[in-house]
Amino acid sequence: MKLFTIFGDPVSHSRSPLMHNHVFRTLRIDACYTRSQLTDGSKLREVFFAKALSGANITVPHKEAAYEACDEIRGLANKIGAVNTIINEDGRLIGYNTDADGFLAAIQSFGLLRNALIIGAGGTARALATVLYQNKIEPVILNRSSNRLEYFIENSYQAYSWETFVPDTYDLIINTTSAGLSDDLLPLNGSLLTELFSHARCAIDVIYGKETPFLREVKNAKLPFKDGSDMLLEQGVLANYLFINGAVSTDTIRPIMQKSFLY
Ligand code: NDP
Repeated sequence: MKLFTIFGDPVSHSRSPLMHNHVFRTLRIDACYTRSQLTDGSKLREVFFAKALSGANITVPHKEAAYEACDEIRGLANKIGAVNTIINEDGRLIGYNTDADGFLAAIQSFGLLRNALIIGAGGTARALATVLYQNKIEPVILNRSSNRLEYFIENSYQAYSWETFVPDTYDLIINTTSAGLSDDLLPLNGSLLTELFSHARCAIDVIYGKETPFLREVKNAKLPFKDGSDMLLEQGVLANYLFINGAVSTDTIRPIMQKSFLY
């Protein structure tokens, strides 16, 4: 039996085991997907081999550590510098990033967008900035601290800390912070958020499965919005395709995985 897991901290909220196990069961693939709480990201590679894994997903806060843990990085993950999917290819760890394309698929329903404000500057923000830029939607980054802005500035994106930010008009406002994940915090000062929403066309929180304080504010502003469920589905479909080595198409995996959301 092939073994897969999701590494994260926290990880108990993750729906990935449900999604992937449902696909494995339905397609009669001899595989099992579990959750792995990992506090120290630098131990990821060691734990991966100790668990004899065939592959893994990586969530908050270890995506940059996962990038470092791999022997080879493929596709957009090279540019992003963060990995959310690892495949064990004959003892070599191959890193991918399926968050970027998953997010792009999720925002298609918002229609044509000119620019987007990304709140947060972690691994997810990097993935989103890269894929938005590639698709001609100008990303602007706003983070609580300046520590993680270097990557964005080096890549010529507009990037601000709370201290340096001067608000403008953005079509899409995105919460990529973990504020609201296991606490009840807004990712930004409430009145600034209200001002940003008053000029925006739509908003998305990449957190899924709960109404975050960010989403409550979006609802008050009466903007079209999404939580992170569609992104979760799409990144999961792409990761599962990699896990099963392309044995069936993503169009076959998607409706099966979507059914797991009903449980
Ligand atoms: P990281 O740990 O890499 O980054 C977290 C970011 O959140 C940092 O910029 C940090 O700012 C900011 N932050 C944390 N707490 C607060 C706070 N209280 N107020 C303001 N900013 C805060 O996380 P990831 O990028 O890996 O993941 C972020 C979120 O995205 C998680 O909630 C994760 O579950 C979700 N996600 C959802 C996906 C989906 O499929 N729907 C896919 C991928 C991620 P600072 O630098 O100042 O510390």
